[in-house]
Amino acid sequence: MKKGYFGEFGGCFVPELLIPPLREVEEAMETLLPKDAFQEELQLLLHDFAGRPTPVTKCPKLSKELGFTLWLKREDLLHTGAHKINNALGQALLAKYMGKRKLIAETGAGQHGVATACAAARLGLECEIYMGSEDVERQSSNVARMRLLNAKVHPVSTGSRTLKDAINETLRVWIREQATTHYCFGTAAGPHPFPSLVKLFQRVISRESKVQMREHTGSLPDAVVACVGGGSNAIGAFAEYLDEPGVRLIGVEAAGSGETGCFNSASLTLGTPGVLHGNYTMLLQNADGQIEPSHSISAGLDYPGVGPEHAFLQKSGRVTYGMVKDANVIAAFMRLCRTEGILPALESSHALAWVFDHPQEFAAGSNVLVNLSGRGDKDLGIVTGYLGSDFMGEGE
Ligand SMILES: *Cc1c(COP(=O)(O)O)cnc(C)c1O
Repeated sequence: MKKGYFGEFGGCFVPELLIPPLREVEEAMETLLPKDAFQEELQLLLHDFAGRPTPVTKCPKLSKELGFTLWLKREDLLHTGAHKINNALGQALLAKYMGKRKLIAETGAGQHGVATACAAARLGLECEIYMGSEDVERQSSNVARMRLLNAKVHPVSTGSRTLKDAINETLRVWIREQATTHYCFGTAAGPHPFPSLVKLFQRVISRESKVQMREHTGSLPDAVVACVGGGSNAIGAFAEYLDEPGVRLIGVEAAGSGETGCFNSASLTLGTPGVLHGNYTMLLQNADGQIEPSHSISAGLDYPGVGPEHAFLQKSGRVTYGMVKDANVIAAFMRLCRTEGILPALESSHALAWVFDHPQEFAAGSNVLVNLSGRGDKDLGIVTGYLGSDFMGEGE
């Protein structure tokens, strides 16, 4: 395959001024990242600071209800509450090895901004986060977290004032500041080498789960299921199984409310191919190629594009992609809380919901591994708002 491409998808469609810093990151990925010293330092950070390895947890009650065995890969137990810290620590360390003194990053709901700010503080790097002004208002507690972690938060008031515009602004800033600064991109999308770089830092998820599932069950899981926003937790959860044809891989997108004409974030299932943020991939766009606004009940899935490797894996048929409506996501969230005592992120609840809604897809006695990409504490306001006052008054 051509470097930076996944079949026809991927590539590096950026202004000329961004080519030098992207080349520099590519070179660091190929020469610094494989070094023993780098790998040992990263391993230590992941172990001592982030809390790896994360366990896989069997869900005994749900397994009984479903007729197959449900396992969860517990990325929710990591520092900052999600898989995003794997990538943030990896890129922050790489930036240090590259001699950079500052990280810049985009953030949507603020989760990647918080993870990047933690990594920067830990490694002694300056940190500036670009965030749509709409999101700055909606996600004030994450803005406070980032500020406490010594990051500067810049509201971006162009376009729809959300994630897409924050990425555009961060790429613009990087043109000016490339000598001293690394752009810590938040998901397995964007221009080459980011889809490959982020995959390298997230594949630890499947590297661990492969060993853990063998320990628990004596074999590989029959299926691995993960939610797909930009695609980083999913590609990390799938990576080590891509060459294992006996393992079914299922990615789950956000269908939004499910009404006709509603906004959604299902760029693979409902989108068309085009270029966004420097790569050729599947997008939500109109007939003129203008990006359509995306929507999801979970902020982390609210992105009108998707990583190019997922577009390729969909086309090749290796991975199946489905989508789930908001109401089913809330039901799955509640079901895991009540039966197993775990509050999942609404993003991860999409993967759970797909499994709950398609039990006939899994043979009796099979082992199904869901990547629990994050914890749901951040989503309490959305869930209680969705359930309404009856729920909040319960038990009085
Ligand atoms: C950000 C986020 C996602 C979506 O991002 P991906 O790059 O698709 O993984 C999923 N789950 C959680 C908990 C998140 O915070």
